[in-house]
Amino acid sequence: MNKIYLDNASTTAIRPEVIQEMTRVMQEDFGNPSSTHSFGRSAKVVLETARKSIAKLLNATTSEIIFTSGATEANNWIISNAVNKLHIKRIISSKVEHHAVLYPILEWQKEDVEVSFLSVDSNGCIDLNELETLLVDEKPTLVSLMHVNNETGVVMNLNTVGALCKKYNALFHSDTVQSIGKQTFNLQETPVDFIVASAHKFNGPKGVGFAYVKKNSRLGAMLLGGEQEKGLRAGTEAIHQIAGMAKALELAYVNLEAESNRIKELKAFAWNELQKVFPLVKSNGNLEETFHSLLNVQLPFSAEKTAMLLFELDMHGIAVSRGSACQSGTTKPSHVLAEMLSMGELQKPSIRISFSYANTNDEVLHMIKVLKEIETK
Ligand code: PLP
Repeated sequence: MNKIYLDNASTTAIRPEVIQEMTRVMQEDFGNPSSTHSFGRSAKVVLETARKSIAKLLNATTSEIIFTSGATEANNWIISNAVNKLHIKRIISSKVEHHAVLYPILEWQKEDVEVSFLSVDSNGCIDLNELETLLVDEKPTLVSLMHVNNETGVVMNLNTVGALCKKYNALFHSDTVQSIGKQTFNLQETPVDFIVASAHKFNGPKGVGFAYVKKNSRLGAMLLGGEQEKGLRAGTEAIHQIAGMAKALELAYVNLEAESNRIKELKAFAWNELQKVFPLVKSNGNLEETFHSLLNVQLPFSAEKTAMLLFELDMHGIAVSRGSACQSGTTKPSHVLAEMLSMGELQKPSIRISFSYANTNDEVLHMIKVLKEIETK
């Protein structure tokens, strides 16, 4: 069997049409979009067409889309700038955030910004009552809570959290990396101030993403040295990357219904088959509350089968991601699962299986067959 890629939450394959578009831009539009001559102007058209397209797909305005090198950069910018320029005195977040959010917050904590981490239950859900209790005092606050957890797929309701933030005048930032391009967004109606996206998560190129910065939010510059991106992020724009990202997002939304239905079927199929072969398998995160493209499962394997599990899957050409402790040479448990699971559960191998529209039932069956071989070996 060919190699099997079930690690689409890490990154995705670039669609051929995206590669074509990027190649075309590199060949035809090498101008600097800041130049005023025709070469520059035509590059500028590529840039602004991409911005328009992305804004339209998310029902935002073009001035609210700021291109970045990806989501890590965008998350760092928003969090740090909210403290520096928007006079935020407190950040409320959770310990299950991606490190691109968690680490900048921990840095600010060292600088005496008050930080509160909300409790997370054994299903990976965040305590929103606690959020409201904290928000009541209306201290200048940034709430940073991710939409879809990249390890477990647990979904946080953007509207519920956004409404609470609005009620108590807090700013709301959400890392939406795992959901942009995988479900529809209407940003005119979603109570968020900042969200971020990364093209390589929706079958676009790596090294490019964007931040949605709500109109009139007064966020300051991330980089100085040029007027690009309205002076917020100086530096010549990577227009081939940006054009590729726009193309990838267009295709993601053109195909959304068919592809997400297919992925839902695949996930249900994988879960059913896993249960048949491993009756004691457990889902990390309540299955009904997890996003359709992610399945994080705890396998009922003995301790000695745990250490080399990912390595052995890789030897069979199967790519999934680490879920918990002591796998693939790392002794550190996932910081997300560590918040949710007991010590005993963390000793068991958990794997994250993340699907794309290109995966097949046969690939899932083969992965399960190999898992069984590893268990019984
Ligand atoms: N946030 C989440 C939830 C992610 O899954 C990732 C990617 O792993 C990132 C942020 C970082 O994105 P990028 O690779 O664009 O820096």
